[in-house]
Amino acid sequence: MENTHNNTGIKPISQTYAVLNAKCPRCRRGDMFMNPMYGFKSQKMYTSCSHCALKYERELGYFYVSMFISYALNVAQMITVGILTYFITGNTESPWLYMGTIFPVVLILAPLNFRYSRVLLLHYMTPGLNYIPSMSENKGS
Ligand SMILES: [Zn+2]
Repeated sequence: MENTHNNTGIKPISQTYAVLNAKCPRCRRGDMFMNPMYGFKSQKMYTSCSHCALKYERELGYFYVSMFISYALNVAQMITVGILTYFITGNTESPWLYMGTIFPVVLILAPLNFRYSRVLLLHYMTPGLNYIPSMSENKGS
C-alpha cells in the first residue's frame, strides 16, 4: 500500500513524512496548520488544503473525535512518565513527586497532542480518505 508505483513519474511522498510534518492526508503536500507547534499564538488550522483543496473538517464537529485521541495520547504519556518516575526514583510514598513530574510533561506536550490527534484522525481513522499520489503533482504541470 505504501509504495504506490505509477507511470506518471511522481515520486510518492511517504506517510511517515506526511504525518510528522502534519501534511494533508490526500496529497501529502499542503500543510494542515498555519503556525508552528510551539509559539505564542494558538494553533490555527487551515480549513482546506492549499495544494489539493481537501476540506479538513470532513463534517461539522469532525474534530470532536480528535479530543478522544488527544485524551488517549495524554493518558499514555501520563502512565509513561509515572512509570519512568517510579523506575528512576523508586518512590512509592509521595504523590507530589508524581504530580511534579507528570503535570509539567502533560503541559509541555499539550500542543503536540492537539496537533497530532488531528493528524492521526485524518491520516489513519478517516475511511475513504487516502493518499492519491497524482494529487501531489505540482500545480499547472
Ligand atoms: Zn492536499
